[in-house]
Amino acid sequence: MKQSMAVKFWGVRGSIPSPGVSTKKYGGNTSCVSIHLDNEKTLILDAGTGIRELGKKLVAQKTDIFVIVTHIHWDHIQGFPFFIPIFQKDRVIYVFPYQQGETMFNSLFKQMDGAHFPVSMDRLPSKYQIITSDISEFMEKHGFCISRIATNHPGGAYGYRIENDGRTVVYLTDNELNPPEGKVNDFDSFVSFCKNADLLIHDAQYTQQDMPLKHGWGHSMISQSCELAVAAGVRRLVLYHHDPDRTDEQLDLLQEEAQIWFLQNKHDIQCAAAYEGMVINF
Ligand SMILES: [Zn+2]
Ligand SMILES: [Zn+2]
Repeated sequence: MKQSMAVKFWGVRGSIPSPGVSTKKYGGNTSCVSIHLDNEKTLILDAGTGIRELGKKLVAQKTDIFVIVTHIHWDHIQGFPFFIPIFQKDRVIYVFPYQQGETMFNSLFKQMDGAHFPVSMDRLPSKYQIITSDISEFMEKHGFCISRIATNHPGGAYGYRIENDGRTVVYLTDNELNPPEGKVNDFDSFVSFCKNADLLIHDAQYTQQDMPLKHGWGHSMISQSCELAVAAGVRRLVLYHHDPDRTDEQLDLLQEEAQIWFLQNKHDIQCAAAYEGMVINF
């Protein structure tokens, strides 16, 4: 029998939290997505402020927790000190440094130094383990087949392809598909990486109007994410890492425009803008 798999969105915003009346529908928390396997394992992608709410749900469960960060910009690590399971005695949590093989404690813990956060990591009662060995090999033992690709993003970042029992989710945030310089992977490489995925979660921070000024800042336009979804033949696209200044009304409109574009071009791809609380079951 197939294991159940659920993808949940806890923070969908890029750059900085943006709470307020104009963002309450899609949410103002920064990047965090979880993938749950059979209620036994929870894989967490990024530890932005959205991870705080996820932590409250996990505290009553006994699932193994795996935390993978795409990179260490604030909006991907800042929620971690508020992730309650790290304060649970004997709770097992596996954490992966963003640079493979890095022996230094990664930034999730380094920010808990007593100066930037009052509780330092040596006072955490949980049994956290920082895994510096090969992520694919380690996760395979736990039921996830994982591969990764370097994205086009200032400072560097990685996207992840996660497969389990014939289902595929690609998490590709903080990625400028066509940067003016410093391209580490081209469009075709991302097409291969995303090929035939059931779900593609992709950076869609900018619009056409934003781009002349923000070209080179490491994020994609919604239209570029849609083009990638078509070229890779994915079944479903979730627009992610919304700009902090994007209001609910604007996101409604941009989502509708993207859906109309797929229809007009006769592409059978479900497309939606990510919102806090969104759940996709496979
Ligand atoms: Zn980001
Ligand atoms: Zn970033």
